[in-house]
Amino acid sequence: SIAPQMAELDGSHFNITRSTTLRDVPLPGSPEELSHSYCTDHMVTVRWTVGNGWETPEVKPYQNLSIAPTASVLHYATECFEGMKVYRGYDGKLRLFRPDLNGQRLNNSSQRSSLPGFKYDELKKLVAKLMQIDGPRWLPKDRPGSFLYIRPTVIGNGPHLGVQVPKEALLFIIAVPWPDFTKTRKTGGLRLFASTPDTIRAWPGGFGYAKLGANYGPSLLAHGKAQALGFDQILWLFGDDRQVTEAGASNFFLIWRNKETQKLELVTAPLENQLILPGVTRRSVLELVNERLSKKAVGNLEPLEVVERTFTIGEIEQAAQEGRIVESFVSGTAYFITPVAMIRNNETDISTLPENGEPAGYAAQIKSWMEAIIYGKEAHDWGYVV
Ligand code: PMP
Repeated sequence: SIAPQMAELDGSHFNITRSTTLRDVPLPGSPEELSHSYCTDHMVTVRWTVGNGWETPEVKPYQNLSIAPTASVLHYATECFEGMKVYRGYDGKLRLFRPDLNGQRLNNSSQRSSLPGFKYDELKKLVAKLMQIDGPRWLPKDRPGSFLYIRPTVIGNGPHLGVQVPKEALLFIIAVPWPDFTKTRKTGGLRLFASTPDTIRAWPGGFGYAKLGANYGPSLLAHGKAQALGFDQILWLFGDDRQVTEAGASNFFLIWRNKETQKLELVTAPLENQLILPGVTRRSVLELVNERLSKKAVGNLEPLEVVERTFTIGEIEQAAQEGRIVESFVSGTAYFITPVAMIRNNETDISTLPENGEPAGYAAQIKSWMEAIIYGKEAHDWGYVV
């Protein structure tokens, strides 16, 4: 028979090799869990070559990769990844959250780094297979509300040192227990350190909208300095007018009262200029607020208008001075929805809390809506049962 030309990624057939030495599942809060390096028993790998396309996916014992020192990824950062979670629901089921959005984003990221594309909806099948095998033991049914972090990755692993488009690639998926920061983090909200003009995370025509490793490595210098000063994350600013883009590995939101209309707005940076990562959580926050909070009050929370637009740190500072800030939070898979307490911009500390020091409760409301979907308390088509 003739080998298929440039086979598509196919998440419905696997070669499976089961591990014969299962690892102990770490307890919540244990050193293993806090290490962020103690993965589940198995991993998925799929090889790609320029002549044949995607090979049959493999599920095999978690193991180190073998890679030539000349490999493309090690020199030219031909790498991209995703961050998603699998959740153990209160109904006993395992769920992914909107996994097709991660599939689309990984496909976009991969093509942006000249790695192979794929049909985005195959990714969720690969993740589901891994979780059908490792999920039952690593997320036991008697621990509803627990989750694993999942890291799908594509690398240019071919051994050609010349600067060129990769001829070989490897897609792999690992799963790792992850501390629940919403339970362990100190209260009071995040402290953000606004980036200075000498460090720019993303720029027009660049790749800030894609989840490439190349976006993260060079950002760690500023992150490390901010942490040494006692801050949690960098708030990335862009341009001479100091536009607010996103915070660390999460999207940034502010709720303030519009000076003219006196209405409350949920403002966040737009996607069009490609300066921020299109977060799955960001999109879900905006869609939930549009659907449930834009036209009517919820309890004592007055309606919110969603505004995606360019805004500046100067506008935040002015709103704070005028007492118009109601709440601020960041969103992302790893850190979920976390309140922000303040931003340091140059020498100025800007409080993003209202004058009474207590967030109005929007972040808490949005978080509880999302948790209901994620953990199967509310039937919703964003949940994908594996
Ligand atoms: N921005 C950046 C730079 C990120 O790395 C992430 C994490 N993927 C996010 C935002 C949040 O995206 P998501 O909600 O899809 O996790």
